[in-house]
Amino acid sequence: MAHLKDIPILMYHHIAAGDAVLPEDNSFLSLNVFVAQTTALSAAGYTTIDFKQLADIYDEKVKPPEKPVIITIDDGYAETLKNVMPVLQKNGQKAVVGLVTGCIGSFDDWQKARKEYYKIIDAGLVREYSKSCFSFVSHSETHSFLSALEGHELEKEVTFSKQDIEKLTGQPVNTLIYPYGDRNARVKEALRAAGYRFGVSISAETKYVLEDPFDLRRVYVKKDDSIRTFMRKISPWYLWYRGFRRR
Ligand SMILES: [Zn+2]
Repeated sequence: MAHLKDIPILMYHHIAAGDAVLPEDNSFLSLNVFVAQTTALSAAGYTTIDFKQLADIYDEKVKPPEKPVIITIDDGYAETLKNVMPVLQKNGQKAVVGLVTGCIGSFDDWQKARKEYYKIIDAGLVREYSKSCFSFVSHSETHSFLSALEGHELEKEVTFSKQDIEKLTGQPVNTLIYPYGDRNARVKEALRAAGYRFGVSISAETKYVLEDPFDLRRVYVKKDDSIRTFMRKISPWYLWYRGFRRR
């Protein structure tokens, strides 16, 4: 993997259709914006890949596409996945969904500060969607701050979520997206021990995106980003700059 050092990994949460009034929160994007961004990716020659493919690239089993990009969607919101599926399918793209397995078929009950709760997809849809443009990875079992946990508590968050998704989809799960991007050396070690290949965060602790497989930083796509800003954020120099500044 000598040559590929940086790759944009996009971070999304909620994508709302139609005239839905979006909360102030930057994690809510309108579907129109998502359509424009994914279309721009295609037009610029980007190929979406998943973490299975990233593992093969790491292992030098396959050559990376010329411009790889990973689309991640955190939390597994039912409405969001329903909204983005036809868009991805139309563009021939794929996305990776970080699932909080303890909330499958229920609500995002970790969002204690919010007035409103949002529905997480149910087990049937996980099964069905895993055969389409989505692959599912772990986003822990209860969306806890993993660095605050130890021993069995930490192990449970990491292993149960992996097993649950593997049982549902029949596909191996090699990635965990850290809730709140929260991780430390012990958390990374727990992932390694549980058989993960990748841990996905938000901010940069390494110079290059792919430097530490248990610390893959992401591009935070914000709701007011213009297409120009979006394309700048995923450009090679900007990825390099973030690593250089450790941002
Ligand atoms: Zn989350």
